[in-house]
Amino acid sequence: MSEKLIHDIVIIGGGPGGMTAALYGGRAELDTLILEKNFHGGQMVSTNEIENYPALPDTNGIELSNTMLEHAKKFGAKIDYKGVDSIEIMEDGVKKLICGSDEIFTKTVILSMGSTPRKLNLDKEDKLAGRGIGYCAICDGGFYKNKVVAVNGGGDTAVEDALYLSRLASKVYLIHRRDELRANKTLQTRLFDSGVEVVWNSTIKEIKGEDKVQSIITVDKTDNSEREIEIDGLFIAIGGIPQSDLVNDLVELNKQGYIVTDEDCKTNIPGIYAVGDIRVKSLRQVITAAADGAIAVHAAEKYILENH
Ligand code: NAP
Repeated sequence: MSEKLIHDIVIIGGGPGGMTAALYGGRAELDTLILEKNFHGGQMVSTNEIENYPALPDTNGIELSNTMLEHAKKFGAKIDYKGVDSIEIMEDGVKKLICGSDEIFTKTVILSMGSTPRKLNLDKEDKLAGRGIGYCAICDGGFYKNKVVAVNGGGDTAVEDALYLSRLASKVYLIHRRDELRANKTLQTRLFDSGVEVVWNSTIKEIKGEDKVQSIITVDKTDNSEREIEIDGLFIAIGGIPQSDLVNDLVELNKQGYIVTDEDCKTNIPGIYAVGDIRVKSLRQVITAAADGAIAVHAAEKYILENH
C-alpha cells in the first residue's frame, strides 16, 4: 500500500492572507496547498480600485488576486478549488481534512476563510437578492447605468461602493445609521465632493417591490420620521461575518466569531494558524492579511521543524 501524502501546509481560503502564506510556504520549499471553495482573491475581488497596497498605486482587486496567485504558484504552491467539510487532529498531530469524499493530510493548517457580507435581515431581502438587492457594487453596479441606487453603511466598503456607483448611476444615496462615517478621511472627502446624497442617522425599515426593488423606507432616528426613497437598486455594505463555522468546535473564537490568535497568528491549537479577516485584529485590509500570511508561515515552519 502506498504511503499517504502529508502536506506541510494546507491553507483553507485563497484571499490575500492565504495567497501570501502560499507564496511564503512555497518559497520555503514546503509542500503548500491552498483549498478554495469559490474563487481566489476572496473579498478583494469585489474591490474596484485598490490604492493603498504599497508600490501598486493603481491596481484593482481582480488584477491583484491573479498576480498574487501566480506569484505563489511560481514558488511551487498549488491550489485546489474545493471546500473543507471538517478537520480532525490525529494522534501524531497530523491534521486530516475531509473534503467531500477526499481526505487531505497536513502537518499544519492556515485558516484563511475571511468573512462574508452581513445582511440587514429585512423581509424581502432574500426574495429580491439579485433583483435590485446586492452585496457587491463592483460585481453588479453595471446594471444600474443611469438608474437610481442606494448604498447602506458608513464604512470604507459602503463609501467606495457609493463612489463607484456615482460614476454610473444617475443618483446615489448613502444611508448611514449615524451622523458621522466610519470610512477613512480620504474616502469621505471624495464622497462629499461626488454628489452622492448622504441620508444621515437613518436605518432601512422596509424594502418595497414585488419582482424587483421599487423603494425603501428609511427611519431617521433623531425624530423617528420616515422617508420613502424610490430606487432601482440597493447595495448593502454593513460589514462582514467571519466564516469560522468550520472551526467553531476546534479553535478559540471571540464572541463575534473571529478566531483568537497571538501575534504570530497561532491559534490555541498547535499547528493551526489564522490569517486575514477571520482573526481578531484591529485593521482588516489586504496589506494586513498579506502580512499575516507571511507571519503564519514563519511560525508553521518552526512548528514543523520541531514536531514532524
Ligand atoms: P465596517 O468597517 O465594519 O463598517 C460597517 C458599516 O456598516 C459601519 O458604518 C456600521 O455602522 C454599519 N453597520 C453595521 N451593521 C449595521 C446594521 N445592522 N445596519 C446599518 N448599518 C450597519 O465594514 P466594511 O466597510 O465592510 O469594512 C470592513 C473592513 O475592510 C474594514 O477594516 C475596512 O477598513 C476594510 N476595507 C478597507 C478598504 C480600503 O482600505 N480601501 C476598502 C474596503 C474595506 P457604524 O459606523 O455605526 O458602526
